[in-house]
Amino acid sequence: MTMVDIEEFVARAAEILVNSRHAVCLTGAGISAESGIPTFRGKDGLWKKFRVEDLATPEAFKRNPNLVWEWYKWRMQLVYNARPNAGHFALVDLETMGILKCIVTQNVDGLHLIAGSKCVVELHGSIRRGRCIECDFKVTFDNPPETIPPKCTKCGCILRPDVVWFGEPIPSQSLNKALELFHKADVALVVGTSGVVYPAGYFPYIVKEKGGAVIEVNIDKSAITPIADVFIRGKAGEILPKIVDKIKLL
Ligand code: NAD
Ligand code: ZN
Repeated sequence: MTMVDIEEFVARAAEILVNSRHAVCLTGAGISAESGIPTFRGKDGLWKKFRVEDLATPEAFKRNPNLVWEWYKWRMQLVYNARPNAGHFALVDLETMGILKCIVTQNVDGLHLIAGSKCVVELHGSIRRGRCIECDFKVTFDNPPETIPPKCTKCGCILRPDVVWFGEPIPSQSLNKALELFHKADVALVVGTSGVVYPAGYFPYIVKEKGGAVIEVNIDKSAITPIADVFIRGKAGEILPKIVDKIKLL
């Protein structure tokens, strides 16, 4: 994609967004990559010898809660040291302009909320919280827990990360809210997701089936690209601010 192509696609995306009635954004790990948080399919250094599917599952936790917590502690450290990037802030701008109605994110890093987005559905929970496996009590961590597994302050049982693991359903409240948003949407702005984790990967298809438009920003093609009306190849932190700047000129 040449610079001229990018400018043209950015202009098209800006126009679609400005004329939208109910634009909703779906984000994935790619939007946080520029904040220094690795995507699952990227290089995970120390943890590369484990498959995510062998760590982020209820079975893995039952088998070895300490191993799973060690991995989460490592990921929490990355997340707690990270700051939102220009991509997150551009989405705040789009919401402030009244164009973007809500963000549905698969990320568990909390960076959309820290950036200042008001309407955020965290589909897969938050790595900043633990949840009691016995009484469901939720604890928000100011820092990664020192001792693992951390204990419930209410009943003393062990906490698990308050995230949705492979093979687990999305909490119905978040799922229903996300479905409602995408059913209402006439534009889906899809940023930094491979689109292979369901049901999130299906949300842009809802919009498309209803005759709406799909705008995608990703450094690579994804499972969403075949239905994208506008696909902009590039980094979220570079492309999203360009879209915002273009809208300001319209
Ligand atoms: P994924 O790892 O499957 O895909 C990441 C996508 O982002 C890829 O398509 C990649 O091409 C794209 N990408 C990478 N860098 C980018 C950039 N700078 N700008 C734009 N796009 C970029 O992630 P996913 O689709 O979110 O799904 C996997 C699961 O991983 C989700 O369930 C999510 O909960 C979890 N996850 C979350 C975090 C986080 O909270 N930050 C990090 C890793 C994984
Ligand atoms: Zn408890």
